Amino acid sequence: MSDLRELYQEIILDHNRRPRNFGVPDQSNRTAKGHNPLCGDIVTVYLLLEGNVVKDIQFEGKGCAISIASASIMTELIIGKTEAEALELFQSFHDFVTGDDVAELADELEELKALSGVRDYPMRVKCATLAWHSMAAALDGDGENVATE
Ligand code: ZN
Repeated sequence: MSDLRELYQEIILDHNRRPRNFGVPDQSNRTAKGHNPLCGDIVTVYLLLEGNVVKDIQFEGKGCAISIASASIMTELIIGKTEAEALELFQSFHDFVTGDDVAELADELEELKALSGVRDYPMRVKCATLAWHSMAAALDGDGENVATE
């Protein structure tokens, strides 16, 4: 059990140290900024939506290791997914960390299990889900709010 804990810790630290898909993309057509005042986490998510498929997703921001690791893992999982699939993933992850549904996550979501420790800390759940809420908000946007920097 402690080996698993160490593995989870390592996954979180690795994503925090080297966040995947971090930065502002040249091209994006959906964006949303999330702020978790309880912890001070700020995450902005940039999506490139083509049809209903997420062609690209990047994020930038600063915050605790949990918030950055969760955002980093999320981007890897969301790329190539349809809008509906992305929101379904969010639901699965949300249920997982809030403990409403203790069912195992699908194998492809293995890395998300590293965040299971937040279950015992409701305030940390907000850290873990911040980027996901931002992603869902970006998908909800009308696409007029184009961000290109
Ligand atoms: Zn946090």
